[in-house]
Parts: sequence; structure tokens; C-alpha cells
Amino acid sequence: MRVGRNGPTMERKFAKRLESLPAFLFAEQKRKIEALRKTGVEVISLGAGDPDRPTPDVVVRAAQRALANPTHHRYPTNWGLDSFRGAVSAFMASRFGVVLDPEREILPALGGKEALHHVALACLEEGDICLAPDPGYPVYRSAPALAGAHAWPLPLRAERDFLPDLEAIPNHIRDRANLLYLNYPNNPTGAVASRAFFADVVAFAKEHDILVVHDNAYSEITFNGYRAPSFLETPGAKDVGVEIFSLSKGWNMTGWRAGWIAGNAQLIARYAHLKPNIDTGMFGAIQEAVIAALSCAREFPRQMSAMYRQRRDLMVRTLAEIGLQVVQPKATPFLWVKVPDGYTSATWTDHVLRQAGIVVSAGSAFGSHGEGYFRIALMVPDEELDKAAIRLADSIHLSKT
Ligand SMILES: *Cc1c(COP(=O)(O)O)cnc(C)c1O
Repeated sequence: MRVGRNGPTMERKFAKRLESLPAFLFAEQKRKIEALRKTGVEVISLGAGDPDRPTPDVVVRAAQRALANPTHHRYPTNWGLDSFRGAVSAFMASRFGVVLDPEREILPALGGKEALHHVALACLEEGDICLAPDPGYPVYRSAPALAGAHAWPLPLRAERDFLPDLEAIPNHIRDRANLLYLNYPNNPTGAVASRAFFADVVAFAKEHDILVVHDNAYSEITFNGYRAPSFLETPGAKDVGVEIFSLSKGWNMTGWRAGWIAGNAQLIARYAHLKPNIDTGMFGAIQEAVIAALSCAREFPRQMSAMYRQRRDLMVRTLAEIGLQVVQPKATPFLWVKVPDGYTSATWTDHVLRQAGIVVSAGSAFGSHGEGYFRIALMVPDEELDKAAIRLADSIHLSKT
């Protein structure tokens, strides 16, 4: 027995697997922000990757109409509506030139995060290794951990344009690896991958019998004429893996939990076998919203890209003013910036919060190879971003000696 806040409690034993999850790195930062707000500072957050603008009207209206349809009031299926898979297949064909069989190669996903987790659960055994980019989206570490596997970090370094060096993976690791996560355009670095790199990935995966899961959350947020490819465009890609697509960023739909997983039919079948044991698919009205997004709001992400490009340019100018050089990304609403000499990721983000009242993400929150960097998310209204830029320029001074 132990005496807790509410009196004596049983010493409970909880599942060990939670202990293998990375700590919730933003909790400490949240506490600091709250403390600062209480002192009257108006904190501006360039931390979270959550679009500030609303979902397109035409999408909301399609969902509103669908809400009243009694068909959708009953259980959906994990395969989703034929019209959903049809819309996805039409989008993948026209946007990327990727031909997918809507009966066997596409499934709805309740957001990219859901798919990233369940694909690990469907593919990894106890003790397997999962190759996970570092810095990277934290789910690439937590998903294998929950599946009982181990994440092996693939360093993304500036000198390799933030592409992993697959040849540098030690043989004994490569031989035990069963899954490889990739994500281009990349969060947090803003890096993009060429078709040639994807071709190398397919060859590597074939040679070593590794499944590839490409997380394509940002293909629609691109700048200056750059158009991101789909991994599935790569010859042979469907033999080795799948791609996960999300409506969250391109269509401002983070709250809707909407995306899909597509590609290798065998893997999709395994995924379809797993899923009804966990959830019962995507609400029909949300499927209708996705269909509307892909058909009636197809060009919407281009407007968002134009907006993010302006914000990017403003912030890149501001960073230069305070003495920080940054590579302009071709895609994603993020800037990945080196912290100045004399700081770590954590001390720098702390400094920016205290001096300018601005939240940025410590690179180390994305993995140990993110140390030495910080990430700016350009997802606040323009007026707030203007204010943030002014505050940064006024209050952060780097000695140039
Ligand atoms: C935002 C994001 C996702 C997807 O998020 P969902 O809202 O779960 O669809 C996936 N991967 C990366 C790298 C992201 O930044």
C-alpha cells in the first residue's frame, strides 16, 4: 500500500510497454508557457504543426449534408465506401500518375498517425527492428515500441540533404530490420526526396526484404513550382511497401482524422485483417468530406502553399536579421534552423520563449540527431506571425564577434 493524494491506493502494476514510449517532450514546455502567460506575456506559438486556417467550405458543407444521411449512422466498414476508394484512386492517378486497384490497394485511415501505428502492429514481431528517421515524427519510434520491436535511428544530416544513408546501416541491424519509415517532404527538416532516392530505397528494400512505409503527409504543401512525388510512383514501390496519405495538412483537416493507406496489396490485406479488431472504420460523413476535398477542393492546398510561402519568406528574412541563416525549404510549413553557437536546442528554445515570448520546437524533441536545431511552424495567423517576427528581430540579438 502506498498513500496517494486521495488516501491509500493499491500499488498497481501497469503494462511495461508504455515505459518504452518516448517521454512526452512537450509537457515541460507547456508548463513554462502557462507560467509565462500568467505573468501577462502574450505567448505566440510557432511550435505545433496544426494549421491555423479552416477546412475548405465545400468540404464542410459535404460533411454537413452527409451527417443527415441515416446510412452513415450505422457502423461503417474498415474498407470504407466504394466512392471513397474510388475518389482516392482517381486522385492518385491524376495527381501522381499512380494506378491503384480500389478493391485491393486502398484503405481509409483515421489520420496518418493511426495508419503509422497499425502498420507497425501488422508487420513487426517482438524483437524486430524498425528503421526510423532521426530527427523524425515521434510516432516512428513509438509505433515499433508498442509493437514490441526496436526503433533504429537513421540519422538525417544536413550534409546529405537530410536523406538517410542506407549503406551506413550496420549489417546485423539491416538483417533484423523488417520495416523502414520514410517521410518526404520531411517534417521537421523541410527536405524533399528525388525520384532517384526513392528508386534506391526500392532496390534496398528488395535486396534486404524490408517493408517501406512512406509517410506522405506534406506532398501538397510545396513552393516555387516544386511538386512532390508519391513514393508509389517509383517502379517496384508497390512490391515493397505502402504510402500513407493525410488530409490534415493540405486541407486543414487535422481535427477530422482523415487519410488513407495505399500500395502493396498483401500488406493492405494484413492491415484490413487487423483493423476490425481495433476500430470500425471512418465515419461515413468524414469519408464524404474526403471525397469532396479530393474532387471539389483539389486545388485548395495550392492556396495554402502560397500562404505558407509568404510566411516562410517573412520568417527567413527575420532570422537573417538576427543573424541566423536558414535554407529555404521547397516544401512543408516548417523551417529547420541551426541554433546559434553557445546554445543547445533546449537552452535556445528557452531563451526565445523568455526573451521574445515565442514558442519554437527544440530539434531534440524529434530525436537525438535533431540536437542543435529548432523548428518553426508557420501555422499562426499572418498578424501573429508579423508580431512574432517583430519581437524576434527586436529582442533576440546575437553577438557577431
Ligand atoms: C501531421 C503529420 C502526420 C499526420 O497526421 P494525422 O493528422 O494523423 O493525419 C503524419 N506524419 C507527419 C510527419 C506529420 O507531420
